[in-house]
Amino acid sequence: MGISSLSFPGKMAAEPERDTALDIICVEHPYLGQFTKSFLIPGQEGGFLIDTGLFSGAQRIAALAPQPEAVLCTHGHWDHTGGHLLFQTRGAVVYAHPGDQPLLEDPERQWTLLYEQFSGDFDIPPARRDIYRQEVQKPVFATRDLYDGQMLSISGVDLQIIAAPGHSDGSVCLYLPQEGILFTGDAVCGDGFFGVLPQINHVSPYRATLERLASLDADRVYSAHSPDIWNAASYHEQLRQGLLSVERLYRWTREFLDAHPRNFRLGELAAYLCRRENGKPLGSGACITAAAFLEEFSAQYDTAAACCGLYKL
Ligand SMILES: [Zn+2]
Repeated sequence: MGISSLSFPGKMAAEPERDTALDIICVEHPYLGQFTKSFLIPGQEGGFLIDTGLFSGAQRIAALAPQPEAVLCTHGHWDHTGGHLLFQTRGAVVYAHPGDQPLLEDPERQWTLLYEQFSGDFDIPPARRDIYRQEVQKPVFATRDLYDGQMLSISGVDLQIIAAPGHSDGSVCLYLPQEGILFTGDAVCGDGFFGVLPQINHVSPYRATLERLASLDADRVYSAHSPDIWNAASYHEQLRQGLLSVERLYRWTREFLDAHPRNFRLGELAAYLCRRENGKPLGSGACITAAAFLEEFSAQYDTAAACCGLYKL
């Protein structure tokens, strides 16, 4: 028993030393110089998947698990959901939090929310448009809802659902208390994946999520875009870095607002936050985060309300 990793295309990641009471197969889906991970838990009744990654990787997952019992969706972002429809067609029950159902059922809306609405703030790379078009095909309608505190028993594995909003409205973590295992999806961004800003769509829920997750007794933590964590201290350090990052972004946003008494473009604030965070590159994720921080200040600064009112979070 243990964890093995399968990277597409073809690269085998090093196998961590520590065994778990559970077989976990990690499938890595590289794209645009980064990757997203989905997880297969083989078991009774065909096993189950935690996210399905990119559409282009779904057939490879299907070779390992032709008919999984279920797909558990950590959230509705396109790079986690590419194979949901394939496995649902094969009989898998697709579980998702209703907060992200609008993303799942309307790929055009998701493109607008994540990218297109910021096209005046940064240049969307053509490769980004291309991969979205290739990987996002059809709407997905979850078979069943996930909700906070829900207990599930799937393929012989007991799981608890922890609602974890802040990266998206319907983000959840999957907690296996007996094993001390936690799957976080993108709910815990630390100080950002792949050297960019953490992507936060609402700040207060995000901070509350990080504080709440610190109460879990987890020492094996699997996120979708960062290395696996194999001890409780590293997990708590990641949460701490996330909270520190939020505090810094509050500070930079206030600093920017004080220096800009007239209306400004969201891209200006996003670029400022990136610069203040050690020169991180500007992208749509930074624009999402910038708008979320403006939302926090919209009662105090008319300029913040005017700017963030132009965007949907
Ligand atoms: Zn995401």
